[in-house]
Amino acid sequence: MPNLLRDLHAEPDRPFRISRVNTSATPDCKNKDEALQRLEKNLDRLSVLQYLLYAEGKRSVLVVLQGIDAGGKDGTIRNVMSRMNPQGVHVTAFKVPEGAEKRHDYLWRVHNAVPGHGEIGIFNRSHYEDVLVVRVHNLVPKTVWKKRYQQINDFEQMLADSGTTIIKFFLLISKDEQKRRFEERLEDKTKNWKFSPGDVEERKYWDDYMAAFEDAIGKCSKPWAPWYVIPADRKWYRNLAVSEILVKTMENMKLAYPQPSADLS
Ligand code: AMP
Ligand code: MG
Repeated sequence: MPNLLRDLHAEPDRPFRISRVNTSATPDCKNKDEALQRLEKNLDRLSVLQYLLYAEGKRSVLVVLQGIDAGGKDGTIRNVMSRMNPQGVHVTAFKVPEGAEKRHDYLWRVHNAVPGHGEIGIFNRSHYEDVLVVRVHNLVPKTVWKKRYQQINDFEQMLADSGTTIIKFFLLISKDEQKRRFEERLEDKTKNWKFSPGDVEERKYWDDYMAAFEDAIGKCSKPWAPWYVIPADRKWYRNLAVSEILVKTMENMKLAYPQPSADLS
């Protein structure tokens, strides 16, 4: 029986090493045909599970997506969330903080965006940027960002204690694959808009980013908020893996329709 949930899970309280991951591997899946078939089933199942979550109205699901530029965060949302009811799903994309965001602590805007009961919240980037880009570019001193791993663990534990199931995905592509995707953005007219010279500049910091990801995942994969590391060079595998982990996690929630509030007899 394939078990992506187990195989891609970053074990809690263990250092995480990116060099151990083969970004083009497809664990628990033979080929693209198999992946597409399984994805279809997962999308149908997800739509039912989301409906149940909404009907129950007592708990929430928070999906965190992180990855390097061109890692596939947008594509994952477009594909894996495509069959969900927009009424119960909330996507938040976190950008460079501005305005009121800058005048508050780094978790302020994040807490404000967490899903309410019955909802699935999807974070396209997240509070982890505050130990990723912020660390890589020294946007705050080390004494400040070092404390954030513990703060993030505490914050996520509080959300979990309040009925939020948290699932975090690190979409990992190789440096070569990133180059291919940037080139595609330059060559394909429909993708030109995605190209940003800033991304090429960021690529120079690849090793610093990888070190920051290793710490974020090693220090913040917890039983109440697990990290999953997704080999993401192959988009069909990435979509399969994310969908399957979502389905399995939501199955484990044992969601059920509530008792009708009126006497139906
Ligand atoms: P994109 O996801 O391509 O729209 O880009 C969003 C940009 O916002 C990325 O370059 C992120 O690194 C940046 N960003 C997101 N959160 C933060 C943060 N807390 N501090 C600084 N930059 C951030
Ligand atoms: Mg970008």
